[in-house]
Formats: sequence, C-alpha cells, structure tokens
Amino acid sequence: NAGPGLALRVEGVSRSFGGVRALREVSLDVPAGARHAVIGPNGAGKSTLFRVVSGEAPPSAGAVSLDGRTITGLSPGRLAALGLARSFQTSSLFPQESVLDNVVLAALAGLPGRRQLWRPLSGQTEAIRRAQEALAGMGLAGRAFESAATLSHGEMRQLELAMVLAQRPRLLLLDEPLAGLSAPERERVANLILNLPRDLTLVLIEHDLAFCLRFADRITVLSGGEEVATGTPDEIRASAAVQAVYVGA
Ligand code: ADP
Ligand code: MG
Repeated sequence: NAGPGLALRVEGVSRSFGGVRALREVSLDVPAGARHAVIGPNGAGKSTLFRVVSGEAPPSAGAVSLDGRTITGLSPGRLAALGLARSFQTSSLFPQESVLDNVVLAALAGLPGRRQLWRPLSGQTEAIRRAQEALAGMGLAGRAFESAATLSHGEMRQLELAMVLAQRPRLLLLDEPLAGLSAPERERVANLILNLPRDLTLVLIEHDLAFCLRFADRITVLSGGEEVATGTPDEIRASAAVQAVYVGA
C-alpha cells in the first residue's frame, strides 16, 4: 500500500550479515522529485540500505517499493529496467576508451533489450544522443573525444555521473559522491548534483553534513543500523538525538 507520488518506500527493512545486524527495521518514504540524504557514522548501515534498495542484498525482513510497486527481492538488472540507478565505481570506467564512448556504453545499457551491445543504428543513435546530453549536463562536452584516462579525479567523478544519467533513471542513489575529492573538485561536483533535473528523485549518502543541509529536503540519520531521526535539515540540525550520535561517533 505505497502512497501515491512516492518514488521510493522502504518499510521496516532489516538485513543481517552473519551475526551483524546491519539494518534494523528502517523505514523511508521518498516522494517523487525529492532530495533525501542519509547520514550517520561509519558502519551505520547506509551502504547496506542502498544495497537493499538496488537489489544487491535482499532484506531479511521488510519491503521496498518503487513508484508504488513492490520490488522486494527483484534483481539489480530488473530494478535498473524499472528506472533505478546507483553511482558507478571508478573501476567501471574504460580508461582507454573515449569519454563519449564510456557514456554511450552506459546509455546502451539503459535502453530496452539491455543485454545485447549490438543494436540497430537507430538505437545507437539514440544512445549517442543521450550520452552527449549527459556529458553536457556534467560539464564534460568539451572532453568527449579524449580518452577517459586523461581526466582528473574530479572529472572522472563527473564522467561516472554522466554514465548513470545517460541511463535516464527516475531514481538515483548516490553513495558518497564527494568522497576523496579536493575542495575545488567537491565544489564543482556538489553544484552539478544540486542542479540535477527536478524530475529525478535523488537519495544521497554523504559525510559532508554542510552539503547535506544544502542538498536535502529531508535527512535520515542512521546509527548502528537503526534510524535515529528523520526530518528537514532544520529539524536535523536542532535534534539532540542527532547531536548525541555525532558527538559519540
Ligand atoms: P556504512 O555505509 O554506514 O558505513 P555499511 O552499510 O557498509 O555501513 O555497514 C553496516 C554494518 O554491516 C557494518 O558493521 C559492516 O561491517 C556490516 N557489513 C556490511 N556489509 C557486510 C558484509 N557483506 N558482510 C559482513 N558484514 C557486513
Ligand atoms: Mg558506506
């Protein structure tokens, strides 16, 4: 019974790894077009929450729905076809290939019939169009024909974002998109994320609290696998429970 207009609903999700209870009855409602941040100390269960939602680690208990449709237990491939994407790791880049070809390959994966790389010219043309649009959106149009290996660390992060955007997701999960970047690179990538299209629903994990407060409509704080608080940035900033988690961390 997912409410109308909810892009993502997580209901009472738990997940254990051996004896470790990584998530305990965590719930989350994300309306379509919302910006939701998930914060919390290391080991809080943030990445596990993403792995549960994206189908990589099915929940031990609880339910997940996407656009009102129950998706609990569906494979990552099925979920990608339903419009769910998460940020690529750097290792998914082909450094020898051009920046554009990296994005075209990602765009082809987002078209129907995703397993075959060969497709009619019309499909390839559409993938190239989507790739060019995604590159322009991520400020890399001018680098399209250079090899990916020539990009700086920050530009590679921009390329990874272009690769997920070229798949035209409706819900995008970003796990620490600013991690490991220099201050100027952070500012650049942060602004690109803040300017993503409003019809794209975003859920983001990030340690940079200042960025989360700028980015999010709502913030969920996890600690030790449990939901400590969920609220607006103002509510989270003022929450004694949240301060206890961060002082205690
Ligand atoms: P976060 O992303 O908030 O730092 P994680 O979701 O990665 O936290 O991890 C939450 C807890 O679950 C940690 O105690 C972690 O060690 C444990 N955990 C996560 N994945 C696994 C796994 N595949 N096997 C065993 N333990 C895991
Ligand atoms: Mg993590």
